[in-house]
Amino acid sequence: MIPKRLAKIINEINNILLPRVCFGCNAQLFRGESILCAVCRHDVPLTDHNYFKENAVDRIFYGRIPIKKAASFTIFSKNGLIKNLLHWLKYKNQEQIGGFLGDWCGAHLKHDPGLEKIDVVIPVPLHPKKLKKRSYNQVALFAQKIAEHINAEYRDDVLLKVINTKTQTKKDRQLRWESSKEAFIVNPEAKINFKQVLLVDDVITTGATIEICARTLLEHHDLEISVLSMAMVP
Ligand SMILES: [Zn+2]
Repeated sequence: MIPKRLAKIINEINNILLPRVCFGCNAQLFRGESILCAVCRHDVPLTDHNYFKENAVDRIFYGRIPIKKAASFTIFSKNGLIKNLLHWLKYKNQEQIGGFLGDWCGAHLKHDPGLEKIDVVIPVPLHPKKLKKRSYNQVALFAQKIAEHINAEYRDDVLLKVINTKTQTKKDRQLRWESSKEAFIVNPEAKINFKQVLLVDDVITTGATIEICARTLLEHHDLEISVLSMAMVP
């Protein structure tokens, strides 16, 4: 074991060599801060969504698919803070940002009496090829933290994104159009021993991905689906 004083010195040196900086403004982070400095954290545009009142994300799905209740944690706004964070998370190997947002959002959710008891939290899956390339699903850590906070089970084995074999078919237009769509399946080996699902994605814009995922889940199973995203495009 490294003596305490030595550990502290190593830590300080580490901080000088690799200063931890804010993903928002590049200012050096103080002890106790992570990902964002206090100022940027304060500037994150949180939505006021809760699981009681109707909101803009609910309205995206009306008339399309029976979603019990939807919400987004933050909003893409002009200051670009969320856009930058999600860019780092998705393309720059900064997986921990998902955990940071999940912890923060989970702490809020815990106190939302409108969110009924959720059995499982399911992330929107990545295609295996993409997963291999990125090495992580950018939604996974966020969804895991949410599950921890609301005492639900995290299940990434239920919903799978699959190779759409129709891409090989170029016979007619309809099929080609179909092939451009994302294809999801419910894993035939997954145990469906739950009822209340919280489906989680990074960004909701048109709601198309969530709609396909929810449709897939509801096709052969008697489930109720709520939705949560890290961010929404207004
Ligand atoms: Zn900052």
